[in-house]
Amino acid sequence: MVKLDEAEVLGNGVDFSTQDGKVHLSASRCPACGAAFYPPRNNCSADGTSPLEDILLSSGGTIYTFTVARQSTPEFKTPYVLVYVDFPENVRVLLPYDGSEPPPIGANVEIVMAAGPRLENDNLISIPHARI
Ligand SMILES: [Zn+2]
Repeated sequence: MVKLDEAEVLGNGVDFSTQDGKVHLSASRCPACGAAFYPPRNNCSADGTSPLEDILLSSGGTIYTFTVARQSTPEFKTPYVLVYVDFPENVRVLLPYDGSEPPPIGANVEIVMAAGPRLENDNLISIPHARI
């Protein structure tokens, strides 16, 4: 895993916000049925309601499952771990994991900013990751 100081920190962006030092992903919630979506969207896929409410997800959740990426394009060091995190808002999000070993299924994780695996102008950037 690339160290945070090797990456450009983007700060608050369109897909997350930081509050009290914690990272909250931006999402949408349907005012009619309560379904939540990440990333944010314009229409509810359950009932077609539009517009949806902007919400911020909790700053953590639980591990649903994971995979270990052992092959990638040359600029990304492998292996790296990707996880599905179940948030209390009933949303499942695929995120990179900030750790070299896969986490236990069901583990509680927090969302943190860490470098890659994403490039912008040939530089690794910090994006939300899950971390125990
Ligand atoms: Zn709905």
